Amino acid sequence: MVLLGQSAAELKAWVEAQGQPGYRGQQLHQWLYQKGARSLQEITVFPKQWRDALANVEIGRSQVRYRHDAQDGTVKLLLTLADGETIETVGIPTGDRLTVCVSSQVGCPMACDFCATGKGGYRRNLASHEIIDQVLTIQSEMGRRVSHVVFMGMGEPLLNLKAVLQAVTCLNRDIGIGQRHITISTVGIPQQIQRLAEYRLQITLAVSLHAPNQALREQLIPSAKHYPLNQLIADCRAYVQQTGRRVTFEYTVLAEVNDRPQHAEELAQLLRGFQSHVNLIPYNPIAEAAYQRPSAQRLRHFLSQLQALGVTASIRRSRGLDRQAACGQLRQAQLSA
Ligand code: SAH
Repeated sequence: MVLLGQSAAELKAWVEAQGQPGYRGQQLHQWLYQKGARSLQEITVFPKQWRDALANVEIGRSQVRYRHDAQDGTVKLLLTLADGETIETVGIPTGDRLTVCVSSQVGCPMACDFCATGKGGYRRNLASHEIIDQVLTIQSEMGRRVSHVVFMGMGEPLLNLKAVLQAVTCLNRDIGIGQRHITISTVGIPQQIQRLAEYRLQITLAVSLHAPNQALREQLIPSAKHYPLNQLIADCRAYVQQTGRRVTFEYTVLAEVNDRPQHAEELAQLLRGFQSHVNLIPYNPIAEAAYQRPSAQRLRHFLSQLQALGVTASIRRSRGLDRQAACGQLRQAQLSA
């Protein structure tokens, strides 16, 4: 059993099964989630003899393999997992917020054409403790509490729904991050948006749209072939109905590819009457793709076209751009170095 991810009640039962008094469960909970203990040896309130006996118990923490501090305060980490796999996680400070961008898989099978992670192939799903660990590790590396979590690192969270939901439960219950401060970002997996809706969570759902019509979307996102755009939008509308939460659409802007006047019009048509928000993300160039980042002026022009057509939209400021900012880029640079 891995300790990270267990509730106070489960930890209490676990210490009692070891013949220890129940209050040590509460201590263990505090050391794991508040103090960020990386091993049971560190938990000095526990008797030395017991700690020694627990030497083989797995807490579930990773090792920091590499840290990069960007000029704007963004911290990118490469973490080594117990089986030697490597993932990226990013801490983004903005004012009194600290947002962690977590990975949900090692690599990603979706193969989106402009995404460095997608180009790197897929290894495996993360376990829930490997997601929780990313938040605790950013917290200790940056020396402050995490306020927001976005599932926008490596991987497709809706292909790993069970572990993602377990992690969300723990982040909320044990680490104290409000569900409304947690965003799950998906490219859309058939049936999975409905499944997520059934949990009636207060989290934010972000859907990576990137194109206003099926043909262009299939070019950018191979898996879109199996999930028609109209069905995806219908599932998003149903999600809003069921959960009472708004949906955000992410739109990575690729100059001349998906940011022409025609695309603004198609997007406005597609989202007509839908209470949603479009986040425009300027493309971060990656070596493996030939797309261009739109100029600030071009981006603003696309935004104002959308707004004039009645679409609620904004531009997401790029962070940590001075080095390997795009999803999956840092890992690739490090693994091939
Ligand atoms: N698989 C999920 C979450 C991970 S990616 C999803 O697709 O939503 C998080 C966001 O970053 C997605 O919207 C993705 O399309 C975007 N992204 C990936 N590579 C990018 C790049 N090079 N430039 C800009 N945005 C990128």
